[in-house]
Amino acid sequence: MTAVTTRRKRSAGELRALAEEGARLLADASADEVVAWAARTFPGTLGVASSMENAALPHLVSQHAPGVDVLFLDTGYHFAETLGARDEVDFSLDVTVRSILPKLSVAEQDERYGPRLHDRDPGACCRMRKVEPLREALGDYECWMSGVRRDESERRADTPLVTFDETNEMVKVNPFAAWSADDVMSYAMRNRVPLNLLLSDEYPSIGCEPCTARVEPGADPRSGRWQGTSKTECGIHE
Ligand code: SF4
Repeated sequence: MTAVTTRRKRSAGELRALAEEGARLLADASADEVVAWAARTFPGTLGVASSMENAALPHLVSQHAPGVDVLFLDTGYHFAETLGARDEVDFSLDVTVRSILPKLSVAEQDERYGPRLHDRDPGACCRMRKVEPLREALGDYECWMSGVRRDESERRADTPLVTFDETNEMVKVNPFAAWSADDVMSYAMRNRVPLNLLLSDEYPSIGCEPCTARVEPGADPRSGRWQGTSKTECGIHE
């Protein structure tokens, strides 16, 4: 499918007011009700971020907003399984996958900053390959959605269902905020949505290949991300 995006029509002030209204109306709403509200309120200006770990969120949103844009940050460092999941999502769901590329290819980044920047300065690498490209892509939308959940980490424990994203000056919706990992997997299995094959190979949380390790059963699912560093987030949810 061809990506069709609509530029923002409302001001940051109007979007802030909508975020506040949504947060009030949907304080105790289900994920389905939250997605339905977002689809109604932001037709054509809604983007869904997906790491292609599983396609539960793109599937749920596509039920209310067929053809919705799904934003995948194509860092150049993904596992083959993740790229396979992206292609399967594009093929099997009623969504429009947009692969968002960084300004520099991996080879260009290596040339300018030296090889394996992710080992020496993962903050800079994530900024150039994830944070800045996403920020630029979000300029096309009034609302973006993520699959962030409160139970993933202490830093995510206060994740709201609906909020105003001050950095990107738009509405941000986290329909799965109150869900557990089991809730997401139950939804995925019930609806037969594409899953990243690495989930069944001891990778419960999947990012770029150089920064993602296998996790022992029972350990913190995010403990395989940026192992050996103090980094716990790529920065797109801050
Ligand atoms: S997760 Fe690692 S490889 Fe991917 S953008 Fe961040 S630092 Fe770079």
